[in-house]
Amino acid sequence: MTEHFAEGELIGVLTAEPLDRVLDYRAPPGGAWLGAFVEVPLGPRKVIGVVWGPGRGDWDPAKVRAAFRVIDAAPMRAELREFLTRAGAYTLTPLSAMLRLATRVPGLGQPPGMRKVYRLGRSEPQRMTDARTRVLEVLREFGGAGLILKELADQAGVGTSVVKGLVAQGAVDEVESPRDTPYPALDPARPGKALTEDQARAAQALGHGVRSGAFGATLLKGVTGSGKTEVYLEAVAATLSAGRQALVLLPEIALTSEFLSRVEARFGARPAEWHSGVTMTERRRCWRMIGEGGASLVVGARSALFLPFQNLGLIVIDEEHDSSYKQEDGALYNARDMAVLRGSIVGAQVVMASATPSLETWANAKAGKYQRLDLPARFGTAVLPEMRVIDMRREDLPGSEWISPTLRQEIKARIERGEQSLLFLNRRGYAPVTICRACGHQIGCHHCDARMVEHRFQKRLMCHQCGETAPIPEACPECGVVGKLAAVGPGVERLAEEAAAVFPDARLAVLSSDLFGSARALKARIEEIAAGDADIIIGTQLVAKGHNFPKLTLVGAVDADLGLQGSDLRAAERTFQLMRQVSGRAGRAEAPGIAYLQSFQPDHRVIQAILSGEEEAFWAAEAAEREAAGMPPFGRLAGIVISAPDPAPAFDLGLQLARADGALRQAGAQVFGPAPAPIARVRGRHRVRMLVKAPKGVALQSAITKWLGGIKLTGGLRLSVDIDPQSFY
Ligand SMILES: [Zn+2]
Ligand SMILES: [Zn+2]
Repeated sequence: MTEHFAEGELIGVLTAEPLDRVLDYRAPPGGAWLGAFVEVPLGPRKVIGVVWGPGRGDWDPAKVRAAFRVIDAAPMRAELREFLTRAGAYTLTPLSAMLRLATRVPGLGQPPGMRKVYRLGRSEPQRMTDARTRVLEVLREFGGAGLILKELADQAGVGTSVVKGLVAQGAVDEVESPRDTPYPALDPARPGKALTEDQARAAQALGHGVRSGAFGATLLKGVTGSGKTEVYLEAVAATLSAGRQALVLLPEIALTSEFLSRVEARFGARPAEWHSGVTMTERRRCWRMIGEGGASLVVGARSALFLPFQNLGLIVIDEEHDSSYKQEDGALYNARDMAVLRGSIVGAQVVMASATPSLETWANAKAGKYQRLDLPARFGTAVLPEMRVIDMRREDLPGSEWISPTLRQEIKARIERGEQSLLFLNRRGYAPVTICRACGHQIGCHHCDARMVEHRFQKRLMCHQCGETAPIPEACPECGVVGKLAAVGPGVERLAEEAAAVFPDARLAVLSSDLFGSARALKARIEEIAAGDADIIIGTQLVAKGHNFPKLTLVGAVDADLGLQGSDLRAAERTFQLMRQVSGRAGRAEAPGIAYLQSFQPDHRVIQAILSGEEEAFWAAEAAEREAAGMPPFGRLAGIVISAPDPAPAFDLGLQLARADGALRQAGAQVFGPAPAPIARVRGRHRVRMLVKAPKGVALQSAITKWLGGIKLTGGLRLSVDIDPQSFY
C-alpha cells in the first residue's frame, strides 16, 4: 500500500464521528502520510481524523472535498491502526468509537509552542475569600504542576477572573511554559533492590522474553507481599535497555503515587502518568511524548492501552483479575484481553500479575498458552496472615450490630499494642435499605429499579445505579408517617459508627470512594494512614487493592458471605479473590498478621477454600464446574441488553430476536431470553437481557453480526452487545 499520498490524491479518512464508514477526501497541500492526523470538513464543521488508506473512489469525484491540513502530531502507526480494527471487530464496537478511545487527548489540533500555565506564587493575597482559598487549594493539591487557566478555574469552581486577581497580587504565578517537553530519562542501569532467589529467577525469565523482541504472555503469580512489583520492574528495566517503551496498568488511581515513588527509586526519575487524576496539560504531554519517543514508561489506567506508543515492548497488568479493567459503558472491552491482543500485534511481552488470577488467566497458563511464574514466599520477613473463621451463629450479638465479640477482643488487643486493624465491608454508605416501620415501604430510586442507599456523612440518600441523590426525608413518602424510617443492614458508615461506640478512644479512618472529593485527596489520606494515623481502618474494596499499611496486623471481613449469594457466574471466584486480597493486607512488615472471616456459612466450599489456602485446588474445582457447564473460559458468552423508555417495545424486540435465531443456530450458538434484567430499570430505561452461549471455537462475533444485521432500532430502543461479559446486572 502506498504510504504517502500526494496533494489532491484520494484518501480514506476515519473520524471519531458515528458514521460507520471511512470517508473519501483529497489529500491536503503538501500531501499526507498513511496514518497522519488530518483536519477535514464534515458538513459545516471541521473534525479531526486519521488517514486510514487510499480513498474508495465510489463517490462523485466532483463532490469529494479536500482535507484542510495535516496536524502536527506523529502519524498513527500501522500497529495501532490494526489494533483498533481488530479490537473493534472482537468487541463489536464501531471503528469510529475505537478511534475515539485512541484520540482522547486535549488540544490535538493545536500547534505546539508556548502556553501560559499557573503555579502557586510566593505571596499571600491581601484579602482571602472562599473562591481564592479554593484556587490556592487546587494548586497545592497538584503539587508543583502547572495548570492552564480554564482547568484551574474549573477545578476550583471559580471564574477565571478570580485566578487573574490572584496573579495581580503575586499569590499565583503566570508563566510561559513550553508545551510538551520530553520526560526525564529513566536509567535502567541503576541497581535495583536485592532480589530473593525466586524473584531473581522470575525476573530473568521475563527479561529473556523482553530480549527476544517477540510476543509472549506470562502469568506472574505471587501471594500479596511476595514482591511482584520488584520482579516486573526488572522486566521494565530490560525493556528500557532494549530501547523500547513499557506500559504498566494499575487498577486504581490511588495506587499510583506509591508506585511512582518505587519507579523513581529504581530508575532515578518519574514516568509519565495517564489517568483521570492528571491535568489536561499533562495528558496532552503524555500522549504527544509517547508518540514521539519522549516518554519511555507510562503508568496508567486501562485507557492508556490506546496511547500511540512508538515502540511498545512490554505491557504489565497489575492485579490482572481486577474488575475495573473491564470497561462497562460505551466501548465494552476488557483491558487485560486487549493488552494481549496489542502485545501480539506489536511483538511485546504481556505480564499479568496477581495473587489471585482470574480463572481465564489461570486456565490459559494451565493450557500452556501463557508462561507461568510463581513467587511462593512473602518478601523479606513478612509472612502470610493466618486465616480463621468466626462462626456468626455462635456469637452473642444483637441483630443491629456487626462486629462480633471475638473480633472486638482482637481489635482491643491491637490498639493496646499500637497496631492497626482493618474492618472490611464491601458496601458503601450507611445502610443499604431504608424501610418505613409504619407501612413497610422501602425507599427506592425514581429512575431505577434499585433501593436508595443512605449516606449519612453526606446526609443524602443515593442511588448506586444512576447517582441520583435526595435528602433523607422525615416522613415516609408512601404513608406520610413521621419518624418511622429506619436503616436496615450495614454499610461502612454504619460500621464506623459501631466501631466508634465500642472503641471511643480509637482513631478511625473510613476509606470509601464516595467520601473523597478527588483521587488526590484519597491518595493523601492513604499515605497518612500508612504512616500510622489511624487505629482502625474501615473500608470497602478500595482497601483490597494493594495499599501497603505496614502497621496493619488484623483484618476482619465483617460479612464474608456477602459475595456468595447471587447467580453471578463469577460469585465464587470474586469472593475468593476479594477475601484473599483483603487478608493479604495484614502482616506485611515485621509483625505477623491474622485475618478473621465473619460467616454464617463457615462450611461453604468457598469459605473453606479461602481458609485452607489450597488455591490450586480451588481453581481446579472452579474450572471443572465451568467446563462441565460449557461456561467461560471453556465456552463463550455474549450479553445482550435491550433498553427502552417503556418495557413493552424492549421485550417485543427481544422476542423477535429470539425467534429469528437462525444465524446463531447455524454457527452452533444458542440464545437465552429475553428476560427482565436483574436491575430491570436504570436511569428511567427499562432493560431486557438476552444471553448468547456458544462452544469455544465458534465464530461468535460474525454470527451475532449476522443475527442483528436486519434490526432497526426505533422509538428510543437501544441494544448493546457485551462480548465476554463480566457483569450480568
Ligand atoms: Zn410508610
Ligand atoms: Zn437510580
